[in-house]
Amino acid sequence: MTAQFNPVTPEIIQQLISILGAENVSTARADIDLHAKDQSQHHASPAEVVIWPVSAQQAADVLKLASASRIPVTPWGVGTGLEGNAIPLYGGILMSFERMNQIVEVHADDFQVTVQPGIGHKDLNAQLSRYGLFFPPDPGANATVGGMLANNAAGIRTVKYGASKDNVLRMQVALADGRLITVGSRSVKQSAGYDLLHLFVGSEGTLGVITEATLKLVPVPQFMSAVVAAFPSVKAAIETVVAVRGSGLEPAALEFVDASHCHMLSEAAGVELSEDPHLFMEFHAAQEATLEAGLEIVKEICQEMGALSVRATADTAERKKLWHARHHSYEIMVRSHPDKQFFINDVAVPISAYPELIAFVQAMKVEDQVTAYMIGHAGDGNIHVEFPFATREEYDKAMVANGKVVMKALELGGTCTGEHGVGIGKAKYLPAEHGPALDVMRSLKQTLDPNGILNPGKIFPEG
Ligand SMILES: Cc1cc2nc3c(=O)[nH]c(=O)nc-3n(C[C@H](O)[C@H](O)[C@H](O)COP(=O)(O)OP(=O)(O)OC[C@H]3O[C@@H](n4cnc5c(N)ncnc54)[C@H](O)[C@@H]3O)c2cc1C
Repeated sequence: MTAQFNPVTPEIIQQLISILGAENVSTARADIDLHAKDQSQHHASPAEVVIWPVSAQQAADVLKLASASRIPVTPWGVGTGLEGNAIPLYGGILMSFERMNQIVEVHADDFQVTVQPGIGHKDLNAQLSRYGLFFPPDPGANATVGGMLANNAAGIRTVKYGASKDNVLRMQVALADGRLITVGSRSVKQSAGYDLLHLFVGSEGTLGVITEATLKLVPVPQFMSAVVAAFPSVKAAIETVVAVRGSGLEPAALEFVDASHCHMLSEAAGVELSEDPHLFMEFHAAQEATLEAGLEIVKEICQEMGALSVRATADTAERKKLWHARHHSYEIMVRSHPDKQFFINDVAVPISAYPELIAFVQAMKVEDQVTAYMIGHAGDGNIHVEFPFATREEYDKAMVANGKVVMKALELGGTCTGEHGVGIGKAKYLPAEHGPALDVMRSLKQTLDPNGILNPGKIFPEG
């Protein structure tokens, strides 16, 4: 699949400078190194030049030049990806959207905003707060909107508000041949032809480059409450997830946190948690009475399922502290193991199959004697199994275990990746997940990017 590429010559650098201006083109070692690796365990791989387009037309012109010259282009948001998605495996041009980070227009009456792709979702929400609106997908890190759409990122609020794909209406996309197209529209109902919008969402920069997006917004909820429940076993916690979902209550977050993580969070983040499996939940409502009635039901469900403790709080500071700890659980885990690296999977299954998936992981840990921690967006059937490793032997062992978890998720009707994307590490699972549909994906790639310049080495397994 991967084409032969040409190097970035001094002539190409000159052409890039004429498109972008010298201030937006760099071959400085520091810039190359800063963009050689994301937050995953995958190895760094340097680009030959880093560029910062400041307009959609510039991005499109660079793609036209790169296609004609057969030079790879890897888009870059802010590098928080966890699957090597933005690592420029074949060198070439690294296209960073750091300097296209503005709100283009707030359409407050339509609950929409149009943005440039390099804006961080947290920065966006800070600016939207004065309208009483927010963009709900929340992957924890301050990922860019472009990176979130390209990975179809999700996160803790997906159980109520959906993933990135559910919160975008329209995008402007620069194609490999230099055309700028608009896909989707600002209408919430759309039925005019093929759904190209969602073809580009989740394509990880392999089909086109997102240069603008119109996003759906929702009103900031009036009342919010967090619930923390401890359980005597993983099984009890996971069965409670299914019970809460089945009750008709709509949690805005429903997270499973294993006993090891609870220990690390209470040590490092100052939240009081016993060393037991926990569920962290959040509920949103427009009226206080509705929220309180819902909380009573949640407490009853947890107690019926044998919870050791159930704590509900509407106190904003306490709620924020809890979610801050949850958001930083990955960093806290990494910091707690200074001699280890981690790789993290993100399989997802239908909610009814979630208890079976988790039971499988637990049994496998014992049978294969492999260390793994678990934390996950349980409310939407998504788990992160985190494998620490220091040596090649530990890495290989963890990889075998990871493969078993992925195959189990597929057997249960799920997917190898619920939110982090395929990137480098999951390409090997796509034939098993998609079968002949993978050939259709290859045909689409060939049509939109015949020279294979866009983010090569991602999504499709290579030899
Ligand atoms: C601590 C931590 C917690 C996380 N938690 C979650 C979580 O809960 N849920 C979740 O979904 N993810 C999570 N992530 C992963 C990460 O935040 C997401 O994958 C996010 O979408 C990456 O965005 P980014 O801006 O950093 O993009 P990058 O990592 O820079 O790039 C990601 C992909 O998008 C492509 N890309 C970037 N910009 C564009 C563009 N304009 N056009 C086309 N392609 C583009 C890149 O080529 C690459 O393929 C977490 C990461 C960390 C470090």
